[in-house]
Amino acid sequence: KKIIITIDGYSSCGKSTLAKQLAAQLDYVYIDSGAMYRAITLYFIQNRVDWTNHDAVKEALHDIHLEFEFNPISQVSEITLNGENVEHMIREMLVAEKVSEVAAVKEVREFAVAQQQKMGVKKGIVMDGRDIGTTVFPDAELKIFMTADAAIRVERRFKELYAKNKNISIHEVKENLELRDYIDTNREISPLRKAEDAIILDNSQLSQDEQLKLVIQWVEDATLV
Ligand code: C5P
Repeated sequence: KKIIITIDGYSSCGKSTLAKQLAAQLDYVYIDSGAMYRAITLYFIQNRVDWTNHDAVKEALHDIHLEFEFNPISQVSEITLNGENVEHMIREMLVAEKVSEVAAVKEVREFAVAQQQKMGVKKGIVMDGRDIGTTVFPDAELKIFMTADAAIRVERRFKELYAKNKNISIHEVKENLELRDYIDTNREISPLRKAEDAIILDNSQLSQDEQLKLVIQWVEDATLV
């Protein structure tokens, strides 16, 4: 029996790493909901859409088509924005700096959540984000809420970004994570929260293998019910 697995939590807790491994192991589909907010933000920046203006946002959303495409080389699905693969561009600081503001806009959330819910119709998916267990799939069979020490999260994200761009500073990364976590937990519409029935996974002291083993056990338990 295939189920829906949701993984929510603060920025850079290792949600996507775990979600990808879990999906590969279970032969499930992995959906990175954050990539959708990032791609919408990229479109708004490129097309100078003022996201504080609700009418402008509504109009722009009509012109945004998002799709996930499976990349056989990286073995994960990558996001396309109006047919263009934007997987790399959406990880840039320029997008990271604005994405939480854009993700707090009501119309943007309605647009993204509706598409995410459609993707879950078939089950057998792992989706990570901030509101997946609370809003997108409140009836999901297994909900995980990930946490990790703040210092560890900053270091992980810094290493990841520095590998691609040597001009980045750890200070900049720390500020960005703090800002996003602050906006994400304090916004009005579906703020970042642990769903009541979510299991907490603190991975500060766990290796990737240890996390995966633990969660596979949870999946087996959830599938038996
Ligand atoms: O997961 P990632 O860090 O790529 O997400 C980028 C941003 O998108 C988050 O900081 C948050 O503002 C927004 N987001 C959201 N709801 C989700 C996923 C991401 O608001 N389900």
